[in-house]
Amino acid sequence: MTTTLACAAETTVHGRRVRTGLFIDGQWRDAEKTFAVLDPATGAEVAQVSDGSAADALAALDAADRVRSAWRHVAPRDRAALFTRAHRLLLSRADEFADVMTAESGKPLTESRAEFALSAEFFLWYTEQIAHLHGTYAPSSHGGYRVITTHQPVGPALLITPWNFPMLMIARKAGAALAAGCPVIVKSAKETPLTCALFVETLQEAGFPDGVVNLVHTTDSAAMSATLMTDDRLRKVSFTGSTGVGATLLQQAAPGIINASMELGGDGPFIVLDDADVELAAAQAVLCKFRNAGQACVAANRIIVHRAVAEAFTARFVELTEQLRVGNGFDAGVDVGPIISARQRDSVVELVEILNQAGAELLTGGSALPGDGYFFSPTVFRVKGRPEQLCSRELFAPVATIYEVGSTAEAVEFANDTRYGLAAYVFTKDLSRAVAVGERLDFGMVGINRGIMADPAAAFGGIKASGLGREGGHDAIYDYLEPKYLALTVDEEEGLS
Ligand code: NAD
Repeated sequence: MTTTLACAAETTVHGRRVRTGLFIDGQWRDAEKTFAVLDPATGAEVAQVSDGSAADALAALDAADRVRSAWRHVAPRDRAALFTRAHRLLLSRADEFADVMTAESGKPLTESRAEFALSAEFFLWYTEQIAHLHGTYAPSSHGGYRVITTHQPVGPALLITPWNFPMLMIARKAGAALAAGCPVIVKSAKETPLTCALFVETLQEAGFPDGVVNLVHTTDSAAMSATLMTDDRLRKVSFTGSTGVGATLLQQAAPGIINASMELGGDGPFIVLDDADVELAAAQAVLCKFRNAGQACVAANRIIVHRAVAEAFTARFVELTEQLRVGNGFDAGVDVGPIISARQRDSVVELVEILNQAGAELLTGGSALPGDGYFFSPTVFRVKGRPEQLCSRELFAPVATIYEVGSTAEAVEFANDTRYGLAAYVFTKDLSRAVAVGERLDFGMVGINRGIMADPAAAFGGIKASGLGREGGHDAIYDYLEPKYLALTVDEEEGLS
């Protein structure tokens, strides 16, 4: 039984019309309760959004399960045609997406536009993959029959997205899952449900069949996912978020052996070696650290600099950091927007306290900014030694920590001294050194002389406590497919008679 009412509210956000209901089985529905979405730049309410229940999630799973077979058997070209239409519609709504993203996440409009463009590219990437899924055909090892291998969609997929990249995360997951032939239930982050609503509405307008795409928002993610994860009809969970929640979902996935992909936390080392181009390294470090106010899983979490260039690098990095303009993401020229919430802002204040207690030296910034929004000044600390409090600690804040090392070997050893393994960066002018260091870094991705590397053509993801599976690249779609083997007896004599 669902608690929703089949009439769909909408609202206007920064002049853009946005649906505020849940989308289940091809219909927008309002839940009985709503929750507030806040603008982190002002603390003001942006919208009231339907607060879905576990029953709503089950209704979405009912729909997804009902259409799983039909969606799987849609011919690749027909599926690709829907994607192509959706991609065109997405592009035509670029400004709407950017405005809504900035309104609910606070990120500067330039970043929202860049995120939108990358998300559309991911969607296009999966569009292009739909008609290129391959299988194999081979004789069995002793002859007598044939080994035919194809791939089949795993089935209904639960996609749980975080707030820090509200568009990219859903485009990347839903693109792969739908391209593979899996119906999806998207569980948005409660801080940024409106971008997800725009995305799902665009797919609806493109003509995706009822039940194939479903969207639920909720303030009780734990109850909702626990309900879905214990239902055998759910066959896949793809999650982006913190390692703790990822571990809980993996435990929930275990009894039903639910296929799981996890994009989790990071502790990215940003290594600047003694022969690095210091100007380039400092500029890329600022980008890698302060993009999205530091709230990125691939952010430079520990800036590890060789002693020979530490002074020059640090001086330039601090100089560039002080040039960053903090403010409302809609204002022209703003580089750093607010922190997502008051709670998260308070955790940044605590982080600065921890750094002070650990004896780190504050070089710039260090405080929350007064006013209604949740702003924090871009902050740089020089850290002595390796304080235990900072070990394997994802900062997720506009707070940079610089560490000094005496050799390349020490840089690599320190970089790897973490439970995480998502993104690492190395700056050196010597390419063979870059490769040697890159190969020794225990991370899923290594940026060489660049601080930004997300791309549809690249396999994005981590190892160790940073996750399982990859998004993007040639193989990502296979995270939503299972190999299927057909054995075919061939009686050659009879066949030739
Ligand atoms: P979070 O884990 O608190 O929330 C992520 C999502 O999970 C949200 O939709 C949330 O509502 C939901 N959620 C929370 N508890 C849940 C539960 N018990 N069951 C099911 N769903 C639940 O993380 P966050 O604070 O929103 O995001 C920050 C974290 O995400 C950071 O650790 C960051 O590194 C990570 N992240 C990773 C990547 C990546 O690709 N590896 C990308 C972005 C963010």
